[in-house]
Amino acid sequence: MSFQDEVKALKERGDIVLVAHNYQIGPIQDAADYAGDSFGLAKKVTELDVEYVVFCGVDFMAESALILNTDKTVIHPEPKARCPMAAMVDIDELREFKRKNPDTAVVSYVNTNVETKAESDVCCTSSNAVKVVKSLREHKVLFLPDRNLGDYITRFVKDKEITLWEGYCGTHDNITVKSIMELKDRYPDAEVLVHPECKPEVVDIADYVGSTAGMLKRAVESHAKRLIIGTEMEMGHRMRIQAPDKEFYFPDDPLCQNMKKITTDKVLRSLKELQPVVDIDKKLMERARKPLERMMEIGRGN
Ligand code: SF4
Repeated sequence: MSFQDEVKALKERGDIVLVAHNYQIGPIQDAADYAGDSFGLAKKVTELDVEYVVFCGVDFMAESALILNTDKTVIHPEPKARCPMAAMVDIDELREFKRKNPDTAVVSYVNTNVETKAESDVCCTSSNAVKVVKSLREHKVLFLPDRNLGDYITRFVKDKEITLWEGYCGTHDNITVKSIMELKDRYPDAEVLVHPECKPEVVDIADYVGSTAGMLKRAVESHAKRLIIGTEMEMGHRMRIQAPDKEFYFPDDPLCQNMKKITTDKVLRSLKELQPVVDIDKKLMERARKPLERMMEIGRGN
């Protein structure tokens, strides 16, 4: 039986949803009920009447899915699939910063662990980061953990004092101007789309900067026949399905090894055994939900 058929058979009981991040391998994305970005998936699950959620992504994504869906059991097929950037926040260092800077608002990217969210005033995604920071009453802001996304925000928010945490996503930070320009020399008509987790000098030469969902939309709608994409290369899977007439090039072949720790075997095992279950202390989860809810509140306003 193929992997897809096995997944279908295991889901026949009707109370399981399988969701996969855009950086998961193609067969897992294809077998999933929904594929997308981390926060979009966590929100999507809130609309579903299911008992079990098998979340294929890294640790903070499965945590966010549980924080927003405490009535469901969230299963993470490989708990060792952890985001190194989320792990770059030392919680004691963050608490010390807060103690010394009580007038500074702490804004954390959703790519953070539950402990970091619990210490934050508000969360943001790569698509609403600028709007969230602009909406704050406070003049001083600490943005964490991604210094590159933080730098991107400072381009649009000039009236605040923004301190950047020294974190970064190695997958995006390794994408170079040189590799992009080599492709541009070969394909001068190509459009350059990059994620704001890329270095500032990469953002400088892009035609479009946005989240994975934004990049996918742009790739489909663009008049360019060739696109140079600055994000994890598995993103090409959905781009090629949704824009089959276009060519996609990924400079420096960016791969997130942690995302790839979720394998088809582990997904099947999780669907069979409904394990390993994500378990977070209830009080910690309550505290981590508040900055997420505040972000959604800001998203609803104009
Ligand atoms: S691509 Fe970067 S931010 Fe995303 S999970 Fe991998 S290391 Fe973390």
